[in-house]
Amino acid sequence: MPLAENINSVKERIKQACIKSGRDLNDVNIIAVTKYVDVDQARQILDLGLEHIGENRVQQALPKYEALHTRGTWHFIGSLQTKKVKQIIGKFEYIHSLDRLSLAEEIDIRAKQENIKVKCFLQVNVSGEESKSGVEPDNLLGFVKDLSKFNSIQLVGLMTMAPLYEDKELTRPVFRRLKKLLDLINEKGILNYQIKGLSMGMSNDFEVAIEEGATYLRLGSVLWENQT
Ligand SMILES: *Cc1c(COP(=O)(O)O)cnc(C)c1O
Repeated sequence: MPLAENINSVKERIKQACIKSGRDLNDVNIIAVTKYVDVDQARQILDLGLEHIGENRVQQALPKYEALHTRGTWHFIGSLQTKKVKQIIGKFEYIHSLDRLSLAEEIDIRAKQENIKVKCFLQVNVSGEESKSGVEPDNLLGFVKDLSKFNSIQLVGLMTMAPLYEDKELTRPVFRRLKKLLDLINEKGILNYQIKGLSMGMSNDFEVAIEEGATYLRLGSVLWENQT
């Protein structure tokens, strides 16, 4: 199946999930995760009109960024080592994996040097799986408060990864909890601005994530099925 057909079929599924849940299609963005493919295939994604590109490893991300960076919006979605921050600042407009103060400090320092603000999602370990990174829900409000002193970090929302369940319904409480946590941060006025982003939903569970309020889906394998 050509890539264009995969994209169309994903878009149709997104549309149906929006209709089912009364969401506005314009509020749901696709981040095409290109970690499985090479520069040429990543370029095809842009040619076919997808605008957001996501990568999870600095080493694989940089060659694609160098080749294609005049186009698209670049998202760093994987866990990030503090020492690698300098390699991506000023390149990736969004970081989805902010999960600790030491990382925030480094992002803030490097962003200041570049005289930019970096848009960050806070990664939350909602499911509590040991293998997953992210702030514990119980520590989230305190963490957000601590972050407000970093002027070069613009918090745009929360991110989570649901466990890989056979039964997609089981992911729903995870996504619902993330939305509740977002609402709580806003209600408590911990930042002096509102945050609206929910980076949640992957190939296996994106429809449920949309129904629970996702604004950025991170989609890899569903786009590349039968391509590689
Ligand atoms: C790989 C990856 C994705 C995409 O996963 P698929 O199941 O292939 O859609 C999303 N988010 C993160 C952080 C990833 O590393």
